Amino acid sequence: MTPECERIHPFRCPLRCVWSRSQQAALAFFVPPHSRTGPRVTSNVMSMTTSAAVPAGSEDAITGGGSVTERLVEANQRYADAFTDPGMDARPVLGVAVVSCMDARIDLHAALGLALGDCHTIRNAGGVVTDDVIRSLTISQRALGTRSVVLIHHTGCGLESLTEEFRHDLEMEVGQRPSWAVESFRDADQDVRQSMQRVRTSPFLLHTDDVRGFVFDVKTGLLREIDPA
Ligand SMILES: [Zn+2]
Repeated sequence: MTPECERIHPFRCPLRCVWSRSQQAALAFFVPPHSRTGPRVTSNVMSMTTSAAVPAGSEDAITGGGSVTERLVEANQRYADAFTDPGMDARPVLGVAVVSCMDARIDLHAALGLALGDCHTIRNAGGVVTDDVIRSLTISQRALGTRSVVLIHHTGCGLESLTEEFRHDLEMEVGQRPSWAVESFRDADQDVRQSMQRVRTSPFLLHTDDVRGFVFDVKTGLLREIDPA
């Protein structure tokens, strides 16, 4: 058991060390040591625009010249080199589905002590319960046996800085209004509450008795549970 392996999944490591070692290699490839100087990748949701334009040179700053996808594919080759089939069933071991914001600062498996195969992770902008999240939860429960649902929003979410004007701006830019709602919110706690309500009232889900919602603090790493009432 490596220290990193122990940190990520202390409970059942002996079965999963191979996965952890290969993940560690990938992490070492992507995550520069904090002491290293050089370009930093920062998140600034306030500068969001509807344009897909990316400043020239920004990708080079991240990847050192090659495309980021090439780096991912190369990392995958190393991952596959160390990979052995764990022989897992597709059904999540813990019978839980976690719905979370896609925010890059949230490492769901590490933050929740989850190991490979433990859960379904369903992520989108905001971690909001959209029709497509209900679709995934329905399949998760009816086809793959999960019973519990955990909803996670977080502090400093980009959705708090957007409004439905985003859709209008998009329409002005591209000439077509998106069919989807932005699902922006002002209060993460309240959005967790209404998200729990959407899950609990869905007619498609088999299990709605164990639905809990949290806000993840990106500064402390702690979850704060939201009272559904
Ligand atoms: Zn977010």
